[in-house]
Amino acid sequence: MPIRQLPPLLINQIAAGEVIERPASVVKELAENAIDAGATRIAVTIEEGGKELISIVDDGSGIPEDELLLAISPHATSKIDSPDDLDAIATMGFRGEALASIASISRMTMTSRPHDASSAAEIRVEADTVDGPKPASGPVGTTVTVRNLFFNTPARRKFLRTDMTESTRIRDVVERLALAHPSVAWQYTQDGRQVIDLPGDQTPVRRVVSVLGTELSDELLEVDHSERGIRVWGMAGQPAIARGTARHQRTFLNGRPIVDRGINHAIKEAYRGLIEPTRYPTIVLFIAIAPDEVDVNVHPAKAEVRFRNQSAVHQAVLHAVQQRLRAADLTPTVDLSRSDPGLDASLLSSPEFGANVESASSGVTAAAAREFVQSLKSMTPTQRSVAYTEVKHALGDTAPASVETAPELPTMIATRPILQVHSSFVVTSDEQGIVIIDQHALHERVMFEKLRSRVSAGALQSQRLLMPATVSVDRSRMERLNELQPLLERLGIEAEPMGPTTIAVHAFTTLLFERKVDPASFMADLFERDDLPQDEEGALHEVLDMMSCKAAIKAGDRLTDEEMNELLRFREDVERSSNCPHGRPTSLRLTIADLERQFGRT
Ligand code: ADP
Ligand code: MG
Repeated sequence: MPIRQLPPLLINQIAAGEVIERPASVVKELAENAIDAGATRIAVTIEEGGKELISIVDDGSGIPEDELLLAISPHATSKIDSPDDLDAIATMGFRGEALASIASISRMTMTSRPHDASSAAEIRVEADTVDGPKPASGPVGTTVTVRNLFFNTPARRKFLRTDMTESTRIRDVVERLALAHPSVAWQYTQDGRQVIDLPGDQTPVRRVVSVLGTELSDELLEVDHSERGIRVWGMAGQPAIARGTARHQRTFLNGRPIVDRGINHAIKEAYRGLIEPTRYPTIVLFIAIAPDEVDVNVHPAKAEVRFRNQSAVHQAVLHAVQQRLRAADLTPTVDLSRSDPGLDASLLSSPEFGANVESASSGVTAAAAREFVQSLKSMTPTQRSVAYTEVKHALGDTAPASVETAPELPTMIATRPILQVHSSFVVTSDEQGIVIIDQHALHERVMFEKLRSRVSAGALQSQRLLMPATVSVDRSRMERLNELQPLLERLGIEAEPMGPTTIAVHAFTTLLFERKVDPASFMADLFERDDLPQDEEGALHEVLDMMSCKAAIKAGDRLTDEEMNELLRFREDVERSSNCPHGRPTSLRLTIADLERQFGRT
């Protein structure tokens, strides 16, 4: 084929291939144009996942009639005019290709009226035929309607997912933009049903809460941190509201929604040990940085950026979130709100009550709460009333109304009664209510933090064994000993081969030894672990985790008063004592307000 200049329609369609991947991309580009035009109200309407119809109405500056044609031609923009502008981009758009691209792959109508115009004008585009501009009726602002997206590029259309999936992606785009622009009022209507209706002029905090769900407002912690010219502001969700997908983890850079692996990694790191590794926190973070510290022109849809100093951004995000989480009391409260006031037997034994407590946390600890409430049940009304009065008296009448208002972990007073239930749970009180502790989970966390802080100060203290402990391993796995040596050294474990299928352990970690962990079975388990991360720090974290689990007090271990006291003291000393290293909670709290409600005192 001889070389030819491509026809304009084809050029635009090729450009569209980069910018417009799916209906959600159209919504993003058009809504960003509305924001750039200074709109205070943006209404998005879609049908059938945006494949049939996307319409965006704004009340922004509008486009003069004589510029309508220019607006839809490629590389036509009002937002930059010299290369210098590229170094400090303040608008959402600047490439001048969105409207041309969208017009080339759909049936598009654009109606616009600037404030100083007496009436609106409209153009219609279908592939490369343009109709207009001609006079039309319409309010001040711009309305863009896109029908039959990808009608002339069937290959693209084939790649679209179900209407449901595409609609969800569009909603996601609208939510992201709404988070970044709290002064704008947003409406989103999907197949005739309005699913988003946000008032304008919201504060950033209000907007985050409105988008994430007002029911979560108590679970969100405001983050505000500056470091080396980088500001990180936002709302970080308590570990309890982590989700199975990353949909509620959102990051913005200078007001633009972005996805950045480094930032995601920093967030994950900040929540490490607080949520299970397969879950994602609910978090919205806005990062602000000098525009010349970042290149936003590396991705056609501008969803990815390049930082001049990636590690400074990583550090700033990590510190911002980590410090906020550490300052917070993350002990989840037992949610009794859906059950009736009054503590009656039928209520307690009903499966619904169980489900309520279960939903407040995961597994074991919820059982603790149930068990504690069960023990109240077995008391006579008089005993219960006495117990209640005692608890209330011990706690004082000045208990704060909610956990979130008290950033420090409340101190448990040693003279308060401590009770062990079912040899598994320790029950006590603090200023805010009754605290139920999963003894294994808490002790595991305590051991983990001890081991971790010691290992970061050098190799763990080690103790020589009088007789070497021997472990038999598969011949084929002997070489793993060599691979594990650097790690073993840091853990204070000395081991060497003794014959083709036996390993001898000569010295073992003192802390584990004191907790009566058997060196041979520990080593055998370690050899079984094929899933250790490749990097040394990751592997170390996993092994410390394993050690703390083995060394910790077990469920079923009867504890003396002294041991329980010690456990409670640890709880106050150790960072992140609210969750075990796997991210499950170590304690639950029944607040005074809940108790009052349950006993019908309010
Ligand atoms: P870009 O946003 O990169 O400039 P677009 O193709 O998206 O390129 O838009 C081209 C131009 O059309 C914009 O620069 C702007 O001047 C104008 N425009 C587009 N949408 C709107 C709107 N909703 N309100 C006012 N002007 C608009
Ligand atoms: Mg644009």
